[in-house]
Amino acid sequence: MRPDTPAENVDHAAEAARLERTADLYPEDAEALLLQAAAHLELSGDRPSATTLYDRLLSSSAGSENPYLVRALKASNLWEYGHEAEARAIIEGVRTASPRDPAPWVIVAEALESHDELEQAQETFTEGVRLLLTDVPEPPYATHPLLFGRHRVRRMLGAGHDEWDALADTVHTSPVSLDELHDPKRLWSLGSDNPAELRAEISRLQAELGTYRAALSRPFPVAVLHWPATELAELTAAYPSLATEYPSHEEHLETIETSLRELASSGTPNLGIVTGTVPSYEAFAASEGASPADATLLPQYATTLAARGRAVEWPPQGAACWCGSGQAYGDCHGTRT
Ligand SMILES: [Zn+2]
Ligand SMILES: [Zn+2]
Repeated sequence: MRPDTPAENVDHAAEAARLERTADLYPEDAEALLLQAAAHLELSGDRPSATTLYDRLLSSSAGSENPYLVRALKASNLWEYGHEAEARAIIEGVRTASPRDPAPWVIVAEALESHDELEQAQETFTEGVRLLLTDVPEPPYATHPLLFGRHRVRRMLGAGHDEWDALADTVHTSPVSLDELHDPKRLWSLGSDNPAELRAEISRLQAELGTYRAALSRPFPVAVLHWPATELAELTAAYPSLATEYPSHEEHLETIETSLRELASSGTPNLGIVTGTVPSYEAFAASEGASPADATLLPQYATTLAARGRAVEWPPQGAACWCGSGQAYGDCHGTRT
């Protein structure tokens, strides 16, 4: 079972076209699909076409489901190809609207940050944090990037730690502490008088920030495909060649948990699980003009389900295990360490 990890050599233009076709097939999921298509267009370098998609979403007769997210993405994209004034105006509008969703806040604050508007970026992160986390005992997972972004910008500004920074430090769980990751000496390499070292450090930093932004510009999980027992039995009965992918249901479930843990430990953010059904898989294969027996379709099917907004966050944020056993995650697939 191959998790769908984004490859370096994805043909982003082709992937955008595929997602736009899929959006025509599933109009109820069009917004999620077109947002991901726009992200691929941005990555392909075709920013004007991405803007066209954002405008299409904002002007659709049904109205956008996440208008502030779409506006934030549009502003960030516009600024990347020289439309600074328009981008700034949209960013102001998003801030004034005070959306309750953390994603637009993070996207506009990072757009400011990446154009060296550090004070403005800090203010924007702070507005979002105050709005979404005041009197919230446990910051929800989706708000962590707000806390981390604010922490990063404040270190670059040379600010001391305040209580939101301390909170960012406590919710950050990777082996490298946030203070080390955001160490301004490391960020700017001020201590280095060796130009080569300085350049290496700057490119390392850019790569790191680039990864964060790429992940954010695609608010879709890296999704692993899960088949419930009855669906898997039906699938392998209908397409026996797929049995090599899935020796048993129990192993299938173990592989899902193991793959996700590996992805998490390699630093892949935004992980999720999508649940397959045989009829929807057959419809997907037909739409791709392929046979369902072709195992190479499975990761694409997972990507498409995730792009349609069907992914469930992993690790589970509620109590129940993702496998559907009815047990708590901690007593089920979450027990192994
Ligand atoms: Zn800190
Ligand atoms: Zn389980």
